[in-house]
Amino acid sequence: MTDFEYKLQKYAELAVKIGVQIQKGQNLIINAALDSAELVRLIVKEAYNEGARFVKVNWSDDTVTRLRYDMAADESFLDDPKWYAGEMLEYIENGAAVLHVISADPDLLNGVSPERLTNHQKTYSKAMTKYREYQMANYFTWSIVAAPSPAWAAKVFPHLPADQQVDALWEAIFRTVRIDQPDPIAAWRQHIDQLSQKADYLNSKKFSKLHYVAPGTNLTIELPEGHLWVAAESENGKGVPFLANLPTEEVFTVPKKTGVNGTVTSTKPLSYNGNIINDFSLTFENGKIIGYKAEVGEATLQRLVEMDDGAKYLGEVALVPHDSPISQSGLLFYNTLFDENASNHLAIGAGYAFTIEGGAGMSKEQMEAAGINQSTIHVDFMIGSAEMDIYGVSADGQQVQIFNKGSWAI
Ligand code: ZN
Ligand code: ZN
Repeated sequence: MTDFEYKLQKYAELAVKIGVQIQKGQNLIINAALDSAELVRLIVKEAYNEGARFVKVNWSDDTVTRLRYDMAADESFLDDPKWYAGEMLEYIENGAAVLHVISADPDLLNGVSPERLTNHQKTYSKAMTKYREYQMANYFTWSIVAAPSPAWAAKVFPHLPADQQVDALWEAIFRTVRIDQPDPIAAWRQHIDQLSQKADYLNSKKFSKLHYVAPGTNLTIELPEGHLWVAAESENGKGVPFLANLPTEEVFTVPKKTGVNGTVTSTKPLSYNGNIINDFSLTFENGKIIGYKAEVGEATLQRLVEMDDGAKYLGEVALVPHDSPISQSGLLFYNTLFDENASNHLAIGAGYAFTIEGGAGMSKEQMEAAGINQSTIHVDFMIGSAEMDIYGVSADGQQVQIFNKGSWAI
C-alpha cells in the first residue's frame, strides 16, 4: 500500500466512522462526482464493513453538468425533479444517512445564463423543501467530505505543474482532516471535545448580543432567546451522533432575524454555485440587507440576496479562530466546506432549527416567531481576519471579549 492509498483509506474510515457514523442495518446514500470515484469505492466498502444494509451512489459529472447549462433546452430548467426529491425523501424517512462527496470546479458555471441558474435553483429548492426542512432540523444523518477534481486543484494551486495539482490538494485536504495524525479517529474525538467546551461556555453565558469590530466591519448581532451554540457533533432525530462537516472548526448559533445592524466586509472569496463573489460588503438594518456591493461578482451577489425574502436576512453566526489548521495552511480552497472553517463567518438565508431550544419540533411560523429566518438558501460567507475583535454583551449590558485579534479570548 502506498502512502497515498493508506491516507485515502484512513479518510474513508473517517467519513464512515466520524462523519455519518453509520449504524448496523442502516442505508447510506452517497452523492458524488466521477472525479472522486477512488475515494467513494473505499467509503462504500468501509460502510459495508461497518454494517451498512445498502449503499446507493448517485454519480454526477462536472462536464455533463456544464453541457446541460450550455446546451439543454431552456424549459428543461423548469422541470420539477420530483422523482429525485421523492427518492431522497423515501430513503431518509426510512432512516438512511446521506453523505456528500464534493469536488466541483469552483468556476464550473462561470458565464452560464443567470436565468437558467435561477430557474434551476428555484425549481430544485421547491422540490426539495421537505428534504431541506428535515436537514435543517437534523432529522436524519448527513455529512460532507471532499475530494479534488483536476479543475478544483488547478484553481487552488495555479502555480504548480498540472500533474502535481491534484496530489497537492489531496495533501492539503488530508492535513485539514487530521489524516497526518498517528490516530486520526482519536484526534477527531479530542478535537470534538475541545469545540464542545467552547460551545458550553457560550451557552452558559447566554449573550444577548455580539459586537464585531474589524477593518470594514462594525456589526452588532442580537441572539434570540433560547439560542444554542452548537459545535462539531450533531444528533439525528433518533439521538445518533454524526459530524455534518469534515473538516469542522466552528462553534455556531442563530442570529435574531431582525437584530442585525451595521456593516460587514468579506475577507475571503465566496464560491456560490460555480461563480465567485469577492471583496464584498453588506449593510444591515434591523436584520435586513439594505445595501451591498462587490468588487467581483456583484451580479451573482444580487442573484443571491434576491433569491427569496429570507435571502435578505442572516441564518447563522459562526466563530472560527484565525489560527485554525485550515487558516494556518494559508490556502484559499474556493470551497465553503474548507474556507468557512478557516474564518469567522455568517450565513445568508435559513437558520438551523437545532440552534434554538425546542426548534426541531417547531413549524415554520413558530420558527419565524422565535426570530429564526426562513429561506430556500443557506450560504456561508467569510468575515474573519487576524484583526477581528468580537465582544459578547449580556442582557444586563456586561461585556466580555470573546475574540481578540482573530483568536479565541475565552
Ligand atoms: Zn458555518
Ligand atoms: Zn452554514
